[in-house]
Amino acid sequence: MLTNEINCDITFLVGRERQRMSAHKYVLASRSSVFFAMFYGPVAETNNEIEIPDLEPKIFASLLRFLYYEDFTVQTNNAPDLLYAANKYGLMKIVKKCKKILEETMSVSNVCNIMESAHTFNDAELLRKCREFFYREPVKCIHSESFLDLCAECVDNVISSDELTVEEYLIFERVLEWADAECVRKDKDLNDSSRRQVLGKILNHIRFPVMDSKYFAEKVAGREILSKSERLAIFTFICSGHKSQTDSNFKSSKRRGRYVRSSSTKQNTHISQSNRQRVAMRFAREGHVSLRNENLWYVGQKADKIDFSSSKTIYIHGVVVYGCGIEGTEYNVNASILRTGLPFLSNELSHVSTTIPVTVPYKTFNIFFPEPVHIAPNIKYTIAVTMQGPRSYWGEGGEESVTSDGVQFDFYKSSGETNGTDVDHGQIPGLIFIK
Ligand SMILES: [Zn+2]
Repeated sequence: MLTNEINCDITFLVGRERQRMSAHKYVLASRSSVFFAMFYGPVAETNNEIEIPDLEPKIFASLLRFLYYEDFTVQTNNAPDLLYAANKYGLMKIVKKCKKILEETMSVSNVCNIMESAHTFNDAELLRKCREFFYREPVKCIHSESFLDLCAECVDNVISSDELTVEEYLIFERVLEWADAECVRKDKDLNDSSRRQVLGKILNHIRFPVMDSKYFAEKVAGREILSKSERLAIFTFICSGHKSQTDSNFKSSKRRGRYVRSSSTKQNTHISQSNRQRVAMRFAREGHVSLRNENLWYVGQKADKIDFSSSKTIYIHGVVVYGCGIEGTEYNVNASILRTGLPFLSNELSHVSTTIPVTVPYKTFNIFFPEPVHIAPNIKYTIAVTMQGPRSYWGEGGEESVTSDGVQFDFYKSSGETNGTDVDHGQIPGLIFIK
């Protein structure tokens, strides 16, 4: 029916070459809510020719084949484009397959492409995996060709993190190369003034104050990337042996590696240990978060709770919680791990009380228990988190069962839950564990 184009009632003009491809509206609409809205929704297309300039004809042909025959093949080379297309038309079966292949074949050369795709479709879980990969091989990833193709927001996210353990001058030089690429994309002249303009807030996440004084004098001070007053403030700070007040626009602390966002010294986990740590994340995506306050998760006196069990003996070292991404704010967090269903006091296995400054535009942060907590297999435990601070992000599309590094976690709604978190949505998006 598709190949013969019998009784087709819609034609797509696909790609830059506007290749004609015909199909049947009812078939597409019955398989995809996006096509349904396109053809039969309140603002339906009345035109029988629809342009699809952002997809390659062969990718769109794969989607059609899936919609008609449930037949699709994902390979490493078409997975990023297919993921984009499947997200666009809400075809979750293809999305899942693409993500699996991309996660399995993530490499230094494609991690930035995957990151950009995850960013476009607000896929928090894939984005987190890309960042984890990036920070494991930061020097190689930052020098990959596709780093230059990232959007400004993604560059800013990568650059602002404490987890980016790369010498500051290398970050500066690579970010300048990105700025040149961005100037070309935006048709701007290649000079320091336009570079500064396209860099915007990215510039503030380069830690000039910790640069070597000789490098700063030779490679930064003579350029117009920073303003005169910024250069003077940073130079004074460096020359005073890091004792004077630095310009508050730039951080003067060194990047400290992974998991530095937890506050007590005992919780700071060095890179060697973090290599053993795994994170099991339970949500497919972030909730419908907008800046409107009412769409954020309520944070206050009540505890968010989730129950879980593990298929193997493990140690829970901490939990991942959602923050708000507003720099300069902080959360007071109390987190406990308990045996489920037994009286509270006698069954609290570990507890941590900490203050988390929100200093990076990350949507989650990690809270660590003072020591890893032994978890026996197939026994229910409860995680309880009380947070005080601004309303937070939240997740949705939670899985009842998640496998991470060969350990299966099953999640259950906690009977003592009072703040709304359950398996499907809410707070506590992940568990940090050691096998
Ligand atoms: Zn991006």
